[in-house]
Amino acid sequence: MAKRDYYEVLGINRDASDEEIKKAYRKLAMKFHPDRNPDNPKAEEQFKEAKEAYEMLSDKQKRGAYDQFGHAGVDPSAGGGPGYGGAGMGGFADAFSDIFGDMFGGRAGGGGGRSNVYRGADLRYNLEVSLEDAARGTETRIRIPTMAECETCHGSGAKKGSEPKTCPTCGGHGQVRMQQGFFSIQQTCPKCHGTGRYVADPCTSCHGAGRVNQHKTLSVKIPSGIDEGDRIRLSGEGEPGVNGGPPGDLYVQIHLKPHSVFQRDHDDLHCEMPLSFTTAALGGEIEIPTLDGVAKLKIPSETQTGKVFRLRGKGIKGVRSHSHGDLMCHVVVETPVSLTDRQKELLREFEEINRGDAARHNPKAQSWMDKVKDFFGG
Ligand SMILES: [Zn+2]
Ligand SMILES: [Zn+2]
Repeated sequence: MAKRDYYEVLGINRDASDEEIKKAYRKLAMKFHPDRNPDNPKAEEQFKEAKEAYEMLSDKQKRGAYDQFGHAGVDPSAGGGPGYGGAGMGGFADAFSDIFGDMFGGRAGGGGGRSNVYRGADLRYNLEVSLEDAARGTETRIRIPTMAECETCHGSGAKKGSEPKTCPTCGGHGQVRMQQGFFSIQQTCPKCHGTGRYVADPCTSCHGAGRVNQHKTLSVKIPSGIDEGDRIRLSGEGEPGVNGGPPGDLYVQIHLKPHSVFQRDHDDLHCEMPLSFTTAALGGEIEIPTLDGVAKLKIPSETQTGKVFRLRGKGIKGVRSHSHGDLMCHVVVETPVSLTDRQKELLREFEEINRGDAARHNPKAQSWMDKVKDFFGG
């Protein structure tokens, strides 16, 4: 049987911090604590639900698996024995039996609250998109794991020709009372894991779970301008609901792949533009790449390294933007390497002429030298 979304159980957002998770759990634990709710099976159920949600979401690894695959990612009972229970439930009685065990005494019946209808959990899928696809938009297909009703037994978990029976251990209540010293403790039935039903002859296809792991392929439209961290919601593609409740949603989380030329900053693009020192000094026209082909850029003479040229409208038009961003080209003047004898000769000659009026040709270097002199002289 499916469970409620852990985030919904704790009443927190999906991006809640560890501290918020702890706080939400503490609040619920106080509210539904058996100590405060004697003879209230519903509160006990909610307490257990909150405890399980807390145990899953406070564990980084489990939370990650849950965010991506839902209960199928963290529930040890999924695909194993029949349905409900499993993770973290045993700890409940262990943790409180010493102090609060007697509070469970005198509880009649049980199994209440199980007919509640809940919405299925939301799931997350991480999708890597190239910068070009993010800029222009595209359509892609994703394959996600999902739990589907077993076709052989139609979800009952029982072998063909047989039916699940009322659990003989708990009589269908899903709970059993254990005697510990003077105390009587209510616990999830170990035989049926709280479902109240017992499959004597399990279905061979699903091993009694009634559900099987499957994959489904979904088509995802990536709108143009989408950015790192954006989410696309696929309504109703999350986990199935509980007891006929509506399914959750699937959130496709966008991650941009690193690009060899451009770095993206919201709607703007940045790129490094190496210039030969002669072009930087004399000026010229160079070709630079943009997302829609090559553009020409005039380099004025005496261009310094670190100078940024802004090409308006050559960036990206964001999903929520009204116009395109800009492309920023960051100049890096390149010192020439692997020089021939002839080139060295010319440069030495150049240097000799240059030295004649260094203050004029290299003002930065000159003022720096003056400061150095002051530093040692002062
Ligand atoms: Zn089956
Ligand atoms: Zn049972």
